[in-house]
Amino acid sequence: MLTRSSTTDSTTTRTTVAGCVPSSALFHDMLLEEPPRASAPAQARRRAVSMELQAADVCRNCPLMVDCLYAAVVRHDVAGYAGGSTEKQRMRIRRQLEITVDPEDFDTLAGVTGRNRHVDHAEVLRLRNANPKESLEGLAHRLGCSLSTVKRHLHTARKGPTGSGRPAVTPPSRTEVLAAYALVVHGIHVEQAA
Ligand code: SF4
Repeated sequence: MLTRSSTTDSTTTRTTVAGCVPSSALFHDMLLEEPPRASAPAQARRRAVSMELQAADVCRNCPLMVDCLYAAVVRHDVAGYAGGSTEKQRMRIRRQLEITVDPEDFDTLAGVTGRNRHVDHAEVLRLRNANPKESLEGLAHRLGCSLSTVKRHLHTARKGPTGSGRPAVTPPSRTEVLAAYALVVHGIHVEQAA
């Protein structure tokens, strides 16, 4: 597994970075990825809670926490626990911020190898332009990602800079995301400068 020290956009997902690497079994456990419903056996729910606390501890000590949280809230609708938050918490954070993000498939979780490798949008377009006759499968192979990831990036590019056609909105600042996180996850109201 990779340990990445920079804080570029590609560090935004939890499978690429140092904080998650030693705890990958925890972060990929289905109980953490999909917490059991209230009707599930108590033992499973207790275990899920315990895992969430462990993951929260890992994230709290991760040097990439702010970048990871920001990306998981603003850029990609990642699955599972990331950036010190569960999927449900991130949904609530987005509601606070009045933003939505398009769902991403598992390919965008920025895994390091194979089909889960993170793929930079610009890199996909650069390779496509440089190799216009190459099959999409070939591009996917070069990029180390899945065919669906290549298609999605090309589809996004065709739609233009505003993506889905919704009016472009200014993304929230990190301060705003952190304030919403503090409120949703910790119940702490952070005053922000006007
Ligand atoms: S904040 Fe958490 S999920 Fe994100 S990279 Fe760090 S340990 Fe992984």
